[in-house]
Amino acid sequence: MIEEELDKPRCHCAVFGVFGHPSAAQMAYYGLLAQQHRGQEGSGMVTAEFDQDAGKFRFHTHKAFGLVDDVYKAEGVLTDLLRGDRGIGHNRYSTAGASNNKANVQPFTVLYKSGNIAIAHNGNLTNFRAIRKKLQDEGTIFQTTSDTEVILHLIARSKQKEQIDQIRDALSQIRGAFSLVILTEKSLIAARDHSGFRPLALGKKGNAFVVASETVGFDIIDAEYIRDVQPGEIVVIDEKSQKTGEVTSLRIDDRPPAPHHCIFEFIYFSRPDSQIFGHSVDKVRRRLGKNLANSRPVVPKDPNSKVVVINVPDSSNTATMGYVQQTIKNGGNAKLEIGLIRSHYVGRTFIQPSQDVRENKVKTKFNTVKGVLRDKVVVIVDDSIVRGTTSKQLVQLVRQAGAKEVHFRVTAPPIMFPCHYGMDFPTQSELIANQCGGDIQKIGEELGVDSVGYLSIDDMLASAPHEGGENYCTACFSGKYPVPIDANQTKEENEA
Ligand code: SF4
Repeated sequence: MIEEELDKPRCHCAVFGVFGHPSAAQMAYYGLLAQQHRGQEGSGMVTAEFDQDAGKFRFHTHKAFGLVDDVYKAEGVLTDLLRGDRGIGHNRYSTAGASNNKANVQPFTVLYKSGNIAIAHNGNLTNFRAIRKKLQDEGTIFQTTSDTEVILHLIARSKQKEQIDQIRDALSQIRGAFSLVILTEKSLIAARDHSGFRPLALGKKGNAFVVASETVGFDIIDAEYIRDVQPGEIVVIDEKSQKTGEVTSLRIDDRPPAPHHCIFEFIYFSRPDSQIFGHSVDKVRRRLGKNLANSRPVVPKDPNSKVVVINVPDSSNTATMGYVQQTIKNGGNAKLEIGLIRSHYVGRTFIQPSQDVRENKVKTKFNTVKGVLRDKVVVIVDDSIVRGTTSKQLVQLVRQAGAKEVHFRVTAPPIMFPCHYGMDFPTQSELIANQCGGDIQKIGEELGVDSVGYLSIDDMLASAPHEGGENYCTACFSGKYPVPIDANQTKEENEA
């Protein structure tokens, strides 16, 4: 699935880390493969191997543009090149401007006074411009345009003696969203910002430890999920951990955790078979659908009509089931049908910014099952509307298939604001909800539907787990940003 063409937000990345497995590169490969949805522009991996002759660790790196399958397919890449029992990997998505710069593909590696170090990052830093300028003024030369590189420079320039203190020193200076895996010569380190915007899970496979953005990265290699890396926590995994089965847990600094998990991970981004923030994505998506059915039921113009509810495959599948189940429970008229078929074989094409092209492309990805939709009142359930281009085209397709009424229901509130914490939306002026000034009726007119209904922010929050004191970021819906954005930092710079 190419989110750009499907008018969905895109996440900036997936990370994976492994320590203490003889086939570390293969483990990381599968972990990245399972997390392909989090980044499709490029992938990279760094492993560490102890060179007996030289008496020191050597880092091996492989990274390229393309999907995981393509990046590591050359014979010997995973077995002969990426040697060692520990490594980190990264799937990347980037904006078009930076996507042609191979240097921006992570992990980034540097050899400095404390040895080799590699880093992979999911999220966006909100103060990187100021740090970068300060470092540049002091003579630091940057190899990439990525915000992640400032972290490496801060570590390398730290005055602390111990490497872990250098890392803590660096992480205490950065703000915004970061779920990190760091490979040093002696350890695998996982760290998460104080808000815990992006997910980061810790797992085990035998004596080996693994870290992944989503637990689907563990399932594929039969690793066991242990727990999340907590907001503001640094987890250190080393050879002692392998012997004792225990990791070392440290705080980045004295600031207490202030959780603001990205609620969009539940709504759209994470896979439904993942556990994120300690909870099942599938369960939350069903609740989003149920709460939508309670708050935004469809009232057909003709009460005797047959109402079919269809999902927009694949991301709204689970929420649609919740919607139908609850509608029926409420005594409503609804039948779950598969009315839209998505082609899984449409090849990857490069982003073409023209609106016309984008609209036409929807037809290459979706087709309707005419017999299911003809003469029916059709309710389309989707997880989000960004520009509205795909939604509009889908509505047209459903009407062309003979539906007599088309209603649209969305398991999220209207997206009105940009994200500065690692999810990419188009510019604010391109968001349909923003264009319509948040006027739902106007959005419905734009989409060409008989009615449209969004989940409210309160109902969205009520669908997410809170029993462990969880708290969520809702900034793209509410405009309330839990971590301030550097005044001089534009969204584009944040994503470069
Ligand atoms: S602004 Fe939206 S997409 Fe970004 S972290 Fe917050 S909830 Fe997630």
